[in-house]
Amino acid sequence: MYAHGFIYLDNNATTPLDPRVLEAMMPYLTDNFANAASTHHFGQKANLALKKARKQVADLLNCDSTELIFTSGATEAINLALKGLVLHPNNTKKHIITVQTEHKAVLDTCKYLETLGIEITYLPVNSDGLIDLDLLDQSIRPDTLLVAIMYVNNETGVIQDVQKISKIIKNKETLFFCDATQALGKIPMDVYELGIDLLACSAHKFYGPKGAGALYINSETVGIRNLQSFIHGGGHESGLRSGTSNMPALVGFGKACELANQEMAQDAERIQTLRNQLETKLLQIEGAFINGHSSQRLYNTLNIGFPDFDANVFIGMHKTLAVSNGSACTSAIVEASHVLKAMGLTDEQAFGSLRISLGRFTTQEEIQSFTQQLKAAL
Ligand SMILES: *Cc1c(COP(=O)(O)O)cnc(C)c1O
Repeated sequence: MYAHGFIYLDNNATTPLDPRVLEAMMPYLTDNFANAASTHHFGQKANLALKKARKQVADLLNCDSTELIFTSGATEAINLALKGLVLHPNNTKKHIITVQTEHKAVLDTCKYLETLGIEITYLPVNSDGLIDLDLLDQSIRPDTLLVAIMYVNNETGVIQDVQKISKIIKNKETLFFCDATQALGKIPMDVYELGIDLLACSAHKFYGPKGAGALYINSETVGIRNLQSFIHGGGHESGLRSGTSNMPALVGFGKACELANQEMAQDAERIQTLRNQLETKLLQIEGAFINGHSSQRLYNTLNIGFPDFDANVFIGMHKTLAVSNGSACTSAIVEASHVLKAMGLTDEQAFGSLRISLGRFTTQEEIQSFTQQLKAAL
């Protein structure tokens, strides 16, 4: 399936492009190169394609097209949401609540906002990776602008109870921002039913291209006008994010959403079966332990640790295996995973853990070969 005989089990870092997504993108890399903001017919054809892509993303979230701002990915959407709300001239609130196990895109943005005088509460998690809902409730203050909690954790697959979180937040004068980058395209999502005010997502985590993502902004509870823009220019994306639209990537994003809408259920069943087979086999290894809640965990992810095992050494020695020892974003520095540490693991246990994430193109053969190689190494 992949070049160089790769066994790719790192789908939470990024996914391969679905060939059908590439096919949808190709005309916009070749013949249909027009600028979607041009007023001539060629440009207006591109604008229609952009509208279609926005509708495809909106359909997967069950929101209105006008509530979406296209970005370069989830990192940018997260930055726009957090900084955009905090730094808007109308904002008077100075407190944000988030969680210790969030993605670095959220945590580092919060750290930056601290330097501007914003107070941040970093909620702890229990050994299963879940937050304490009572503690969340107690932490909300009159000056809490925003609660930022992710849907599915990228390292463990742990699923926070978004419905209950939003119920707690609904009774207060605060907004709910959800990083749903690992959830969109993998589990059904209805932003209204879930009570989410702002949401970030990214195409390359579910078989779309890199360089495309979106920020959803609820038009009733937030409104685009209440966010400060950081990229000024031609007024694209409702004035929040100027710059010529990345047509091939956004058309691909839309196509990936359409495919997810159609195939999510069957993909989930197949992937879950493979993940459970892998999990059962690896748990037979003496001392093996799973990181994350046993059932409140996404069907594609297995974060598993072994005693006297160094995940980085294993990864370094196996040139045709792609798995992770934590989040790819921090692996430039060898530091124990902040997610696993927050769940109470020691450095040694965290370094001894592998994140194995499956996807639409994972095969039974890959799982079997990986299991053999891991067992041999142990
Ligand atoms: C990948 C990821 C991001 C960053 O997304 P990009 O589109 O690569 O910027 C943010 N949050 C989570 C949970 C992720 O998995």
